[in-house]
Amino acid sequence: MFNVDGWNLKNDKNIALGGVSEKKKNKKSKNKSKSEISETQINDAVNNDNGSKPPKKDQTKVKGNQNDSKQPKNEKKRKNTDEVENKESITNKRSKSLAKVASNTTIPKASIDLSTKSQPPIPITSQTKLTPLQQKMMSKLSGSRFRWINEQLYTITSEEALKLIKEQPSLFDEYHQGFKSQVSNWPENPVQVFVDQFKNRLLTRNINAPGGLPGNKDKTIVVADMGCGEAQFSQDINKFIKQQKKNNKKFKNLKIEINSFDLKKQNEFITVADIKNVPMENESCSIVIFCLALMGTNFIDFIKEAYRILQPRGELWIAEIKSRFSEKPEEQQQQDPQDSKVGSEFVDALKLCGFFHKSTDNSNKMFTRFEFFKPPQDIIDERNAKLQRKKKFIENETEKEKFENKRELKPEGEWLLKPCIYKRR
Ligand code: SAH
Repeated sequence: MFNVDGWNLKNDKNIALGGVSEKKKNKKSKNKSKSEISETQINDAVNNDNGSKPPKKDQTKVKGNQNDSKQPKNEKKRKNTDEVENKESITNKRSKSLAKVASNTTIPKASIDLSTKSQPPIPITSQTKLTPLQQKMMSKLSGSRFRWINEQLYTITSEEALKLIKEQPSLFDEYHQGFKSQVSNWPENPVQVFVDQFKNRLLTRNINAPGGLPGNKDKTIVVADMGCGEAQFSQDINKFIKQQKKNNKKFKNLKIEINSFDLKKQNEFITVADIKNVPMENESCSIVIFCLALMGTNFIDFIKEAYRILQPRGELWIAEIKSRFSEKPEEQQQQDPQDSKVGSEFVDALKLCGFFHKSTDNSNKMFTRFEFFKPPQDIIDERNAKLQRKKKFIENETEKEKFENKRELKPEGEWLLKPCIYKRR
């Protein structure tokens, strides 16, 4: 529907990182250089679109929007300013024309309190045959809506996200239309990297052998793909296993179970669940995957959920957009050169959640991949004994406490991983 070039984190000025509430936005503007990232060329369609708020005309059409009547004064003021910005960016002619092609549209109602957030641009539901100009405008609108949904998912809690998509399932479709378009421009799709890694380890090593995939006691490999999107991982691996079973005797009795979780049941592979709480038993899983899925502001809850469902020696595979990781302040980097590594703060946080770090792969231009595993009890005991010998056990426990206190003051989505958000110009 619309074209969005991949996130080229070097050159593009169209995507910014940082919070979205007005409060946060004000702070951000004071400290612009910190929160903006450089980025790709997003193609014309999205580039020329100056904001994700609906034109004034459309706002007056909103029926029963709970946020409108209850808005505090300063919020109303803000809206007016936004409308002025919109007037500048979206001409009357354009909004009239959009109103024509999308005449059956209403701004979706969300019962969650998004009052400090912007409203989405009008959804694209028209069946009308569009002129080329209208098509162009529709694609701009679609880019705006993708940005708006993306921004919501990065800046609300996972409970709110589940509620939002439950109430407006079409947002999921629109999001994935835009998401696919983004990723198709990347040199590599991280899901594909995980699929290849899975196939390769399965073909070259035995299950549970060194270098082989982890399975449970009867060698069943149980995967949880958390925030699976359209469950590409499951679909690809299932196809592959079917083929292997046909052609390779070795795999005749192979048992692989892939559980794919997301906010909407887009196909039969998916189970709807908030990934902070998935319907799986404790220690029932041998691999947990988060592929670009650490979106909610409480994403450490997802990591803890992974820890709960993973069996000892189970693996955690994560891929996240590179630009979400902040560099450590220079003084600290000099003290410890290892600290300057991308994602070191993130790795430390996962260690505090109990994981052992296996590797960080920073070779891809767009995303960083991490591998962790859940240590079995003997390794945990050994490590604790070592910490005690070095008189660092208490220190480590204090670190954990500090980490939890920090999370309580401010959700990790505001400091540990930056949300990946398009800049509104
Ligand atoms: N892993 C897929 C999709 C990535 S997009 C891929 O790489 O292709 C991120 C996905 O995470 C979206 O589909 C979004 O709906 C999902 N997501 C975000 N927060 C979630 C939550 N709390 N529970 C379940 N899914 C979530």
